[in-house]
Amino acid sequence: MRFSVIILFCLCVFAWAEWNSEDVHRLFIKRVNLKPGVYTGKLESVMDSAGLSVVYEYHRLLGDMYRPTVTSANDFGSHSRYSKHYLNLALDFRINDVPQNKRAILVENIRGKRFLVLWESQGGKNEHVHVEFIRD
Ligand SMILES: [Zn+2]
Repeated sequence: MRFSVIILFCLCVFAWAEWNSEDVHRLFIKRVNLKPGVYTGKLESVMDSAGLSVVYEYHRLLGDMYRPTVTSANDFGSHSRYSKHYLNLALDFRINDVPQNKRAILVENIRGKRFLVLWESQGGKNEHVHVEFIRD
């Protein structure tokens, strides 16, 4: 009886535990590969949520074992002058390792969320999906 009460107490504590923004950030980072040099340390929380949505779409299309690669956050000096990357409100995901016939589907599935999604450098070495938060 006492053991059951302890188990019940532990389950309740677990169920009531709230996720904070750092937990969500850690979860996102665990689900992706980071290209060397990518800095996500000051990423806005909304981008961690967006990133997890993007990971979900990669998994839906390529299976749960697929691990997308983030190729840029706020770490690259050659984005356009007013890029959201510099505001920690944009992420780039590698797409040139996705089978050619699935890329358009992936990009289309990522679109339709609360974010601007651009398929950049199509067919090029730097082909990627740019995801940025749109402020109201
Ligand atoms: Zn970008």
